[in-house]
Amino acid sequence: MTISRRTLMGALAGLPAIWPIQAKPQAALHQRLLCLDTHLDTPASLARPGWDMMQRHSRDSDLTQVDYPRMRAGGLDGGVVAIYTPQGPLDAAGMLAARDAAFLRAMQIRELVAAHPDKFELAFVAEDAARIAASGKRIIYQSIENASPLGDDVSLLRVFYRLGVRMVGFIHFKNNQFGDSATDKPQWNGLSPKGRELAALGNDLGMVLDASHASDDVFDQMMDLSRAPIILSHSGCRAVHNHPRNIDDDRIKKLAAKGGTIQINSYNAYLIDVPPNPERDKTVAALRQRLRPSPNQSATEADAARRELVKGMKEIDARFPEPRATFDRYMSHVTHALDLVGPDHVGVGCDWDGGGGVTGMEDVTAIPKITERLAKLGYTENQLAAFWGGNALRVLKAAHEARKTAA
Ligand SMILES: [Zn+2]
Repeated sequence: MTISRRTLMGALAGLPAIWPIQAKPQAALHQRLLCLDTHLDTPASLARPGWDMMQRHSRDSDLTQVDYPRMRAGGLDGGVVAIYTPQGPLDAAGMLAARDAAFLRAMQIRELVAAHPDKFELAFVAEDAARIAASGKRIIYQSIENASPLGDDVSLLRVFYRLGVRMVGFIHFKNNQFGDSATDKPQWNGLSPKGRELAALGNDLGMVLDASHASDDVFDQMMDLSRAPIILSHSGCRAVHNHPRNIDDDRIKKLAAKGGTIQINSYNAYLIDVPPNPERDKTVAALRQRLRPSPNQSATEADAARRELVKGMKEIDARFPEPRATFDRYMSHVTHALDLVGPDHVGVGCDWDGGGGVTGMEDVTAIPKITERLAKLGYTENQLAAFWGGNALRVLKAAHEARKTAA
């Protein structure tokens, strides 16, 4: 009888933690899994003059958490990269500025993939993931985080669909024309009339509706309205840390019952109690404003500004220290969700390059630790495959199959 490498590795991964060889098979197990993260803010780095996705950077040197070499090192096969637009004023000028910013970001993502066709490939349907991974390339699905760039014209979502966007996050830190934010005062009591239109069009196009950042009322209404399962692309558990950006157990159960998935976020202030520190916030905002990248900068200027930002952030951390969540704390959100709804409805959306990262898991190179921990807890390779990619792909497939119109 021959034992396949896969069977052997699977058996070794199941050995007790004291077995000295266990670190190796678990590393192999992680590399074998198709690993996707459903919320990568890495496109923000693409706007920085001279920043090269193909070079290895570090959080210490330039505050980034994902690049091609680190994706490989961490065994991240790809994921959903966000076309994120900060919530600006909701007047005509603000909406136009948001629209332009989102299209420019979409263009930068396409430029990245076009410049490295042997390293990245845009993905549009669930089936693309395995094919792209098998060809040795990284998988790039796209989402919008904050639908504000659509302005008054919901039909603009079709253009984003044609650009390849397959997931739509309606809202960010503030309420917008589509509904209420988890971190703002209720204005619409959930979705606005335009928000309902957006949910319907998203469904018709076959896009996944993303309720991360949305208020509980928006979540409930999206669940009622959507023909397809929905996603929380980067959220945590309110039972572990009571924060409006996290979600309660009943809602996680409802999400799972309808086939959806919660992808656990590693954003510090949602994992642990971080006391308000307006002085720190003001100082950080001023520093970031002063040193924000501009398209007219040379690469040298951008580099110098980034170094100053890193130095400034270290000084701010020393002057206004802030509690920081640990890897164990991140895992307590993961395991809480897993205990509640099982491995078919939980995954990873770390918010890399968007504020994610904890002590002990500072960038994407550290994600094999998640697999290692879950394997130790007894999760099987099949369950880990669902957790790391299968669940998100199932939701993507279900949304696609529930579509009604061609874009
Ligand atoms: Zn976010």
